Amino acid sequence: MNACKFCKQIGNLAEIMQTEGNGVEAATLNCNCHEARQYQARSENIRRLGEALEEFKEYSSTHNIKLEKSAVQMLSTIGAAVIDRQVCKNSMTFGRVSIGFALSGKGNLLITFKYAEAQKFEI
Ligand SMILES: [Zn+2]
Repeated sequence: MNACKFCKQIGNLAEIMQTEGNGVEAATLNCNCHEARQYQARSENIRRLGEALEEFKEYSSTHNIKLEKSAVQMLSTIGAAVIDRQVCKNSMTFGRVSIGFALSGKGNLLITFKYAEAQKFEI
C-alpha cells in the first residue's frame, strides 16, 4: 500500500503514480502530517548535504587539496549527525581548507567553506 509510513494516510494517488520507485517513500514525501514534514525536512537537508560535499570537493581541488573518498564519507556522516542534532556543530580542516556544519534556528543545514592562509615560521 502506498501510504505515509508515519500516519498511514494514502496520499494523492495521481502524484504517487507519477513518482518512480518506492510508493511508500513517495506517499511519505507528499504527506502533510507532522512526522512526514519532519522527514521531508531531513530528506531535504540530506540532499543539500550531498550537493555541498560535491561542491566542497571541487572547492578543495581548486586549492590543490584532493579529498579522499574516505574523507568525503566521514564528512557525510558528520553532516548527518548535525542534521539529526546528535552533534551541535562541527568543522573539519584539510590542509588549508575547512568545512563547517551547523543548523539554523529553522532547522536548515548551514554549511561554510573556508580557506585559511595559515603560516607558521620557525626561526
Ligand atoms: Zn503522514
